[in-house]
Amino acid sequence: MDAAENRSTQSRPRSAMAQPAVDPSGQHRLVDLIVAGGIVVTMDPQRRVIGEGAVAIQAGRIVAVGPRGEVEAAYIGTERIDAAGRALIPGLINGHAHLPMTLFRGLADDEDLDDWLQHTIFPAEAMNVDEAFVRSGTRLGLAELIRGGVTTVCDMYYFEHAVAEELAAAGLRGLLGQVLIDFPSPDCADHTAAMAAIERFVSHWQGHPLITPAIAPHAPYTVGDGHLIEARAFADQHRCPFVIHLAETRHELEESLRLKGARPVEHLAALGVLGERMVAAHVVWAELHELDLLRDHGVGVVHNPQSNMKLASGVAPLPAMLTRDLAVGLGTDGSASNNDLSLWEEIDTAAKLHKLITADPKVVSAQEAFELATIRGARALHLEGAIGSLEVGKRADLVVIDLEAINQIPLSSIYSALVYATKASDVRTVLVEGRVLLRDRQLLTLDEPAIEAEALAYRHRIIERLGIGHSATGS
Ligand SMILES: [Zn+2]
Repeated sequence: MDAAENRSTQSRPRSAMAQPAVDPSGQHRLVDLIVAGGIVVTMDPQRRVIGEGAVAIQAGRIVAVGPRGEVEAAYIGTERIDAAGRALIPGLINGHAHLPMTLFRGLADDEDLDDWLQHTIFPAEAMNVDEAFVRSGTRLGLAELIRGGVTTVCDMYYFEHAVAEELAAAGLRGLLGQVLIDFPSPDCADHTAAMAAIERFVSHWQGHPLITPAIAPHAPYTVGDGHLIEARAFADQHRCPFVIHLAETRHELEESLRLKGARPVEHLAALGVLGERMVAAHVVWAELHELDLLRDHGVGVVHNPQSNMKLASGVAPLPAMLTRDLAVGLGTDGSASNNDLSLWEEIDTAAKLHKLITADPKVVSAQEAFELATIRGARALHLEGAIGSLEVGKRADLVVIDLEAINQIPLSSIYSALVYATKASDVRTVLVEGRVLLRDRQLLTLDEPAIEAEALAYRHRIIERLGIGHSATGS
């Protein structure tokens, strides 16, 4: 579905939606589910935090958010989830990932991006990546995402139709990009085949309630100018998002200046490729005038602090992005480079990294860091009409967080607890589109023992094919 359509159809007022039935007493409207009790962190335009609140859900959408007494006086749920003493938050949004690469976790650490890509990742992909690998790695990543309270992920990889099928089956929401790259890839021999695969992928998934398909040119240094322009035209024609890595490393910047005579963002602007369908990951090497270009073109940006730190790529100018009110979210990047999919760590790191770099502890407040993972992250994916906050009419993507773990007590401020003290392991229950995917820490839509066994089997095969001898003990 087109981003603009998403906004118009998914944020329509309640009066335009199917009204819940009324119970026999006439006192309550019947809904599918009520999540009640606990601190409700809405992330709505007023940033309301309701001390003891409730959310009513009908047909996958939120029909009421408010104080528990008011919601329970008006609605009765077929099902009820007790969130007393816990926090109820919008589902987290992981704005940049490569889920199948979860099977490459820990394969090569502590290297430059270029060495890492050329000497380990590209060969490992050439030797291992097929559709079965993609499905297995995606399920592994999905289990970690759901356990960590992520309800929407923006992914880009090969065989993305298989990623989409696995997401839809597990019940997670995704903005998913089939990759375009100027060399033979595991699923496409050449550019013509790649564009045909993207066309099939986008046409098949458009309109799905959970999946927003996209075209995903890998990066300006792996996709030529003509193909970038073609990708932009495809996105316009099909009204689909355009996902890309942009201005990630100093090397990319230097090569862009040498070969194109312009910085990466300037170059894409000159090509006419920037636009409001674009989701750009990283944007580390951008100057202030380039941030203005991104904002003026409506580009969504995804900050990946831990991946950028681990690969020593640099520090994205997040405070300047926030000053300009750019649509910026947070991502983990792939597990081969991070090495986990915990958005909680990214929230915590985003808040701290920029304080250190600017020597100003007031930069990126806890609330702003939490916004990156929720409502601002939704803007970065151009999905703010549907997700990112607990508001009437939005999709029922929400997460119940325990607040009584030893790492969280005693509770002072809710944003402080969520940003600086909460871990993925504190996630108790996860709903997407009103469907419970994790209940009291039990995964309901994925077979975790089977996922674990497959991951181990793939690990043996990957190190055998690469001819590297490292083992789990580090020898
Ligand atoms: Zn990436």
